[in-house]
Amino acid sequence: MTLTTHATLGAVIGHAVGNPVVAFVLGFISHFMIDMIPHGDTGISDNFRVHKTRQTQAVAYVAVDAIVALLFVLLLANTRDIDHVRTFTWGIIGSVLPDLIVGLYEVTKTPLLRWFNTMHFYFHDFFVKRRGEVPLYYALLAQVVLIAYLQTKL
Ligand SMILES: [Zn+2]
Repeated sequence: MTLTTHATLGAVIGHAVGNPVVAFVLGFISHFMIDMIPHGDTGISDNFRVHKTRQTQAVAYVAVDAIVALLFVLLLANTRDIDHVRTFTWGIIGSVLPDLIVGLYEVTKTPLLRWFNTMHFYFHDFFVKRRGEVPLYYALLAQVVLIAYLQTKL
């Protein structure tokens, strides 16, 4: 999923549970669960990681994704009264952390993080490899709808 989707879900989890540690743990778990839903980025991801082609596209996609997520979190934080800022924060941190770790692995290729990278893509590719991918355009539209719904829960 996009980082905006992960972050918004993490914020809602944080809002719902009211404990920063629980928010972090559930946010972290939610990343893998929602990533299992095919969401159109397998082509970009495989080009980058496996085929080593069109890698600039992947980097640009991630950069846009990250900045949009940052702006959206700031929008959320500035347009409503977040009564539990700490759980809101830790829910978001937990929910986006797996992709940060995957990115760190991609940058460093350290064996320390290889297992995590493998686990991440086990979940990420779980249904995609069995049932096939969905078009990115539709997946992004579906995520906009999901985010629009989730933000009403904050
Ligand atoms: Zn991920």
